[in-house]
Amino acid sequence: MQFQPVFEKSERPILIAGPCSAETEAQVLTAAHALAEQGIDLFRSGIWKPRTRPDSFEGVGSKGLAWLRRVKEETGLRVTTEVANANHVYEALKYGIDVLWIGARTTVNPFSVQEIADALRGADVPVMVKNPINPDLKLWMGAIERLYKAGIRRIAAIHRGFSYFGDTRYRNVPRWQIPLELKRRFPDMQLICDNSHICGRRDILLEVAQKALDLNFDGLMTEVHPCPDEAWSDPAQQLTPVDYGHMVGRLVVRQPTTDDTDFLETLDNLRHEIDELDDELFNLLARRMQVAERIGLYKKRNNISIFQPARWTEIVERAVTKGAQLGLSREFVEVLLKAIHDESINHQEKVMSEPRGARVKD
Ligand code: PEP
Ligand code: MN
Repeated sequence: MQFQPVFEKSERPILIAGPCSAETEAQVLTAAHALAEQGIDLFRSGIWKPRTRPDSFEGVGSKGLAWLRRVKEETGLRVTTEVANANHVYEALKYGIDVLWIGARTTVNPFSVQEIADALRGADVPVMVKNPINPDLKLWMGAIERLYKAGIRRIAAIHRGFSYFGDTRYRNVPRWQIPLELKRRFPDMQLICDNSHICGRRDILLEVAQKALDLNFDGLMTEVHPCPDEAWSDPAQQLTPVDYGHMVGRLVVRQPTTDDTDFLETLDNLRHEIDELDDELFNLLARRMQVAERIGLYKKRNNISIFQPARWTEIVERAVTKGAQLGLSREFVEVLLKAIHDESINHQEKVMSEPRGARVKD
């Protein structure tokens, strides 16, 4: 699949901003004028709002489309809104909405996505696809593929985090490896981070935005409202236009690469060092597996089972303590050890299931 850019390529991040919901014409226009002055690339505002629980504000509906058209006329900004069914698509296209987006609660449902894709057949409008609420890369890719099959080529992806049941500092946990895997599979597709819906709160918006840029995301989508505390949806995560300007101003934009030869030489040396260390790691791991096989053989001769829970707990505790002394997180040590242990068990199992006498050299 070959995607075309939704936004012109540039050295600085793509900036999409605007209120969570369009509430009144005055609120939309105030936000848009303030953001136009800051040179954003696309103005966002939800007209149809899919809410998790009933009785929340569900958007102003089609009448908000005329407000967005006025934003275009008065500020020259391109505008975007969320569509969740075929009728939304027809209405939005009728009003000249420049870019459409599919929300997280729609991406999860292939029937809805297909309905939208069918409604878009033959239309030349870019579409941004938010990740589904659950951490399912295939569902996200599936939505993109449905649009692609309908002839849409200008497609971008928006990472807005994933639902999580339990305590976390985020509203939706980022699970950065999922959008990065999407980027690996679709390298020419622009990837945007919706820091507002990941954070759910104002105080960590900059941190998450910076992390996204450090991971080479192409841009940010952020909710901005003239009076955030009075917003009809998502008040805790929206910024005033002034605070949004501060956030953008504090971002450090890193370039994917440079032609500075000193820099490139140093990077090259460090990368060699990494490659050598990786080789060493693999040699050590291979040796560890050989020892595991010897243990397997020994257990087999003595008729002892492979998995010993007490030994496993002891290994983990020892490694976590050692890891902490070396500055390695508990999470990392546990994941790493589990992978090594699984592989060890496979090796032990292999020698256990070999016919008796197959290995005599030990
Ligand atoms: C939104 O952007 O306001 C929205 C409803 O987002 P999501 O689909 O990511 O929940
Ligand atoms: Mn919102």
